[in-house]
Amino acid sequence: MADVVVVGAGISGALVTRALRLSGRDVVIVDRRRPLAGSTMASTALLQYELDLPLHRLAEHVGWSRASRAWRRSARAVQELGDIVRANHLRCQFASRDSLYLAGSRYGRVALKEEAIARQRAGLDATYLDAALLRDHYGIERTAGIVGPGAAVAHPARLTAGLLRRAMKSGVRLYHGANVVDVMPIRNGVLLTTDDDRVLVANQVVFCCGYEVPRLVPPRTHRIHSTWAIAARVRGTLPSWLSHTVVWEGANPYMYLRTLGDGYIVAGGRDEQDGSAHTDLDALPQKAGLLREDVRDLLPALSLDVTHRWGGAFGESASALPLIDRLPGHSRAWVVAGFGGNGITFSVVAAQVVAAALRGERDPDAALFRIDAHLR
Ligand SMILES: Cc1cc2nc3c(=O)[nH]c(=O)nc-3n(C[C@H](O)[C@H](O)[C@H](O)COP(=O)(O)OP(=O)(O)OC[C@H]3O[C@@H](n4cnc5c(N)ncnc54)[C@H](O)[C@@H]3O)c2cc1C
Repeated sequence: MADVVVVGAGISGALVTRALRLSGRDVVIVDRRRPLAGSTMASTALLQYELDLPLHRLAEHVGWSRASRAWRRSARAVQELGDIVRANHLRCQFASRDSLYLAGSRYGRVALKEEAIARQRAGLDATYLDAALLRDHYGIERTAGIVGPGAAVAHPARLTAGLLRRAMKSGVRLYHGANVVDVMPIRNGVLLTTDDDRVLVANQVVFCCGYEVPRLVPPRTHRIHSTWAIAARVRGTLPSWLSHTVVWEGANPYMYLRTLGDGYIVAGGRDEQDGSAHTDLDALPQKAGLLREDVRDLLPALSLDVTHRWGGAFGESASALPLIDRLPGHSRAWVVAGFGGNGITFSVVAAQVVAAALRGERDPDAALFRIDAHLR
């Protein structure tokens, strides 16, 4: 009998395990694949607090109080991830960045003006830039932008591997090749079954399965899309501001980008609604070409040699908030799914919410992320 089984050895599983160990729980991690074989490996790891849905739009969905709390919690999570990295001496290229959010076809100048005011009202450090300021400071031709501190970058695999290694040193056992297909409540615990008929009994289970969301989660809570990314060597000189700034376009299709160091950039976006489209390897060159053009459209002086290109599954909820809750009908089975462009930021929040609940405490923001909040 295990105390807590964490299903999934990606960044969510690693952070949840860490938080549970700090609460004194014994943890076993199981994964159907090897550790880090899920979307964590595909992540471009822009660690942003900005949700995919602008604050002023989220407020229209869930009200100002909940929306501003969600944004502030997200901002805190990026800083807390930095604290975790430093406290554990994780060598994962974690570095703080400014965030530059640009007007695009989805959110134009007027929306950005409103957004900057909303962020300031929520106590977040955000400065509105008009077209002239953007041109002067960044050499970018867009109608508006918002800039502010509070973002970060990291190497997602090293971050996760570092956390998992430390967990294992503290006594956590990790098993791969265990594909959990069923969960059943039993007296004082749960019974997990794998596809090869092995059985695991635990006091509690936390599903950290990324976008392979457990089937008990109502499908209406989220959609699974495909997304793509490239890494490219830059010929010529990168603008100096880019080395300390991540960029996100409020466009459809959107594009984001950051530097990797050593004259490389990574850019991503070009999402499609078909959750399996990323498995079509024939589509990869075209998607990579489009992303390259998106970057050149933004920064025409850059000449790029694409060295790596890849795609992956990507989850989205209507509110852009993560799902962190008990599975319907279960009191001891939790699910964590960090939807949206800041999935890793949400993994930090998920670890805090779940660990608090298992200690018998109530996280003040827990209601924001519950399944019923996603079904409204
Ligand atoms: C191309 C791309 C770019 C991205 N860029 C960013 C970004 O810049 N910033 C950001 O914050 N986020 C980004 N994301 C999202 C981010 O990668 C995810 O939010 C995050 O990695 C999810 O981590 P996870 O641990 O929840 O899931 P995963 O890393 O997918 O891990 C889940 C694990 O669970 C295992 N598993 C699933 N089901 C079962 C089962 N039934 N039994 C046993 N094991 C199971 C899987 O094998 C897997 O190892 C990006 C995603 C993609 C695809």
